[in-house]
Amino acid sequence: PTKSKELARQMKGRLSPRVLQILSSAGKIGDELDLQVYAVGGFVRDLLLGTENLDIDITVEGDGILFAETFASRFGCRCKGHIKFGTAVIVFPDGFKIDVASTRLEYYETPAALPVVERSSLKMDLYRRDFTINTLAIQLNQSDFGLLIDYFGAQRDLQEQNIRVLHNLSFVEDPTRVFRAIRFEQRLGFHIARHTENLIKNAVKMDFLHKLGGKRLLSELVIIFKERDPFGAVERMANLGLLRFIHPVLKLDAMNRRLLEEVKPVISWFELLFLDRKYEKWVVYFLALCEILTHDEFIEVCKRLAVSEHYREKLAEMRRLGERVLDAFNRRGAKCRPLQPSEIYRLFNDLAVEVLLYLMARTKSEEAKKALSLYFTKLQGVHTILTGDDILALGVARGPMVGELLEQLLAARLNGAVMSRDDELNFIRQAIVNNVVFSQQDTGPCSES
Ligand code: ATP
Repeated sequence: PTKSKELARQMKGRLSPRVLQILSSAGKIGDELDLQVYAVGGFVRDLLLGTENLDIDITVEGDGILFAETFASRFGCRCKGHIKFGTAVIVFPDGFKIDVASTRLEYYETPAALPVVERSSLKMDLYRRDFTINTLAIQLNQSDFGLLIDYFGAQRDLQEQNIRVLHNLSFVEDPTRVFRAIRFEQRLGFHIARHTENLIKNAVKMDFLHKLGGKRLLSELVIIFKERDPFGAVERMANLGLLRFIHPVLKLDAMNRRLLEEVKPVISWFELLFLDRKYEKWVVYFLALCEILTHDEFIEVCKRLAVSEHYREKLAEMRRLGERVLDAFNRRGAKCRPLQPSEIYRLFNDLAVEVLLYLMARTKSEEAKKALSLYFTKLQGVHTILTGDDILALGVARGPMVGELLEQLLAARLNGAVMSRDDELNFIRQAIVNNVVFSQQDTGPCSES
């Protein structure tokens, strides 16, 4: 292994005091338990690249669960262990988490020189990883704190910006790595090394990716679509011929390329406007990728990706509804009167945020864009001050009329015709007169028109 104590200094400069404290405490506890403890994987990769990564993965040569339990009890954390896998999660009181894994215990079974076997068990553990850049480990035990262990030329690949697998069967062993390779390439601005790219092409040619389960494929796509700018990755997937493994007719043509590019500014606009709003960015990209598919094909893609039946149906239906709304906008001529806010509200209110953002990226109609923008900024979430009970208290009979009056009231509020509670009360009183609504105690006719 390549060793360097220089890293200990770099760690002090680059890591927050808290992370540094955690790593050094992990090393001390390793010493107490006579276990070799390492920080590994993406955390180390990003440390060397100077990128913040708060996902600390710790690998312990030996009993990782014992290590995690000891650490947790010492620092008032919770510890959730999976004995079967030798893994554990340490959870700090504020929710901060550390993942702990054990190198496989079978490597201890050789009765030969123990230290060599221990060290090689870490090596075997790292050998199972996807790409060389993810195989770095940093020793945390006090006497060797900050020792960089590089068995597979990871430092060189980081310098040369290569994504490289560790062996020729890597993609056959786990085809999700094809998508991971693209993700790391795009995120880090690296390139997939030539031999590795050939292995991907080979796996594509041999149809290995058909073996990939829907759930795993979806979770890789979701991660790609959550990246800062997923477009490059989709382009790369298309170039490498991967889209057909999602659906045979899926492709990247000029039209959905334009759409996928259009999604980014829409999302930036939305996230700037609603800083803390929870939504699933990946769904917007997913819908954009699937733009060219028919309703039935869209359902097939969702089935392929093991999207739950409930969500699949909901999404497909909203997608269909959204298409209709855009068609309606496209049919509107210049002479049509402008839509009222309440009409815009009704068009969009049954659609999820993700679908609306997709429509916004998709539509070329200026009127539709403006309507969507108005809906997001002013109309969504508007509600009346009065409730159904208030309306009953005004003498309206329990029944569908209450809902109808509330709807009329909401429309009036959306259109700016009522502002205060008094306005609303007056509006309802007037509507009662107009609609000739009487309560059950009244003897007059109950008109629902
Ligand atoms: P990210 O910043 O996206 O979280 P990461 O490198 O931390 O990147 P994870 O998906 O969290 O990636 O995985 C953690 C580590 O587990 C990786 O560094 C990688 O070495 C290993 N790993 C994950 N998935 C695979 C896989 N399919 N095959 C081999 N190793 C994998």
